[in-house]
Amino acid sequence: MYEYSLTNTVNNAIQALCRQEGWKKVNRITVKIGGLRRVNPELMAFIFAAASKNTPAEGAIFSVMLVPITYYCYNCKKKTMREDSEFVCPLCGSKNVQLISGLEFALEVLEVESDLF
Ligand SMILES: [Zn+2]
Repeated sequence: MYEYSLTNTVNNAIQALCRQEGWKKVNRITVKIGGLRRVNPELMAFIFAAASKNTPAEGAIFSVMLVPITYYCYNCKKKTMREDSEFVCPLCGSKNVQLISGLEFALEVLEVESDLF
């Protein structure tokens, strides 16, 4: 399942950062994900809770910030939003569009505790 591979990527990145930076506990994680990736945020939180057991991220609040799918239409010269993943302008039907957002996948917020402060 797609959620498993994305969530494992997040978990591995966080574990690597914890080792590298000496973080003892991760309190909050927010992952930014584009709407085109069609993920189930609750499922990701569930997978993360299981995957992070016995690591500094165990018990962290995991949330997903969904980024809307937006296109720029070269015909209308406007930015528009779509719910589905058709590469067509919803205003004029032109296929002369460019994807602006919708494919994001990044760590947006990471709140940690460390011995340094
Ligand atoms: Zn258009």
